[in-house]
Amino acid sequence: MTCEAVVLEAFGEPLRPKEIEVPELGEGQVLVMLEASGVCGSDVHMADGEDPRVPLPIILGHEGVGRAVR
Ligand SMILES: [Zn+2]
Repeated sequence: MTCEAVVLEAFGEPLRPKEIEVPELGEGQVLVMLEASGVCGSDVHMADGEDPRVPLPIILGHEGVGRAVR
Protein backbone atom coordinates (compact mmCIF):
# COMPACT_ATOMS: atom_id res chain seq x y z
CA MET A 1 0.00 0.00 0.00
CA THR A 2 1.20 3.50 -0.77
CA CYS A 3 0.15 6.96 0.36
CA GLU A 4 0.86 10.55 -0.57
CA ALA A 5 3.23 12.50 1.67
CA VAL A 6 4.99 15.84 1.50
CA VAL A 7 8.69 15.19 1.98
CA LEU A 8 11.70 17.32 2.89
CA GLU A 9 14.61 15.95 0.84
CA ALA A 10 17.13 18.79 1.30
CA PHE A 11 17.40 21.55 3.92
CA GLY A 12 16.21 24.93 2.70
CA GLU A 13 14.46 23.42 -0.33
CA PRO A 14 10.67 23.29 -0.89
CA LEU A 15 8.74 20.27 0.41
CA ARG A 16 7.81 17.90 -2.40
CA PRO A 17 4.75 15.64 -2.72
CA LYS A 18 5.72 11.99 -3.14
CA GLU A 19 4.05 8.61 -3.29
CA ILE A 20 5.60 6.51 -0.51
CA GLU A 21 5.24 2.94 0.70
CA VAL A 22 3.31 2.53 3.97
CA PRO A 23 5.45 0.39 6.28
CA GLU A 24 4.08 -2.81 7.79
CA LEU A 25 2.63 -2.22 11.25
CA GLY A 26 4.52 -3.63 14.21
CA GLU A 27 3.11 -4.90 17.48
CA GLY A 28 1.08 -2.16 19.20
CA GLN A 29 1.26 0.25 16.23
CA VAL A 30 -1.78 1.95 14.67
CA LEU A 31 -2.23 3.27 11.12
CA VAL A 32 -3.79 6.76 11.18
CA MET A 33 -5.31 8.43 8.11
CA LEU A 34 -4.36 12.08 8.66
CA GLU A 35 -7.02 14.66 7.98
CA ALA A 36 -5.03 17.72 9.07
CA SER A 37 -1.55 18.51 10.33
CA GLY A 38 -0.18 21.61 11.96
CA VAL A 39 3.19 23.12 11.19
CA CYS A 40 4.97 24.18 14.35
CA GLY A 41 8.13 26.19 14.87
CA SER A 42 10.31 23.10 15.27
CA ASP A 43 9.21 21.92 11.80
CA VAL A 44 10.34 25.24 10.34
CA HIS A 45 13.72 25.01 12.13
CA MET A 46 14.18 21.42 10.88
CA ALA A 47 13.31 22.40 7.30
CA ASP A 48 15.89 25.19 7.48
CA GLY A 49 18.57 22.72 8.61
CA GLU A 50 19.01 24.22 12.08
CA ASP A 51 18.93 20.83 13.84
CA PRO A 52 21.81 18.59 12.71
CA ARG A 53 20.09 15.51 14.21
CA VAL A 54 17.35 15.56 11.54
CA PRO A 55 17.76 12.70 9.05
CA LEU A 56 16.82 13.26 5.40
CA PRO A 57 14.48 12.57 3.73
CA ILE A 58 11.86 13.27 6.38
CA ILE A 59 8.10 13.83 6.59
CA LEU A 60 7.63 16.84 8.86
CA GLY A 61 4.63 17.49 11.05
CA HIS A 62 3.93 16.02 14.45
CA GLU A 63 0.65 17.72 15.31
CA GLY A 64 -1.75 15.60 13.29
CA VAL A 65 -5.46 14.86 13.53
CA GLY A 66 -6.98 11.82 11.88
CA ARG A 67 -8.78 8.47 12.14
CA ALA A 68 -7.28 5.18 13.20
CA VAL A 69 -7.91 2.87 10.22
CA ARG A 70 -5.95 -0.23 11.25
ZN1 LIG B 1 5.58 21.04 17.67
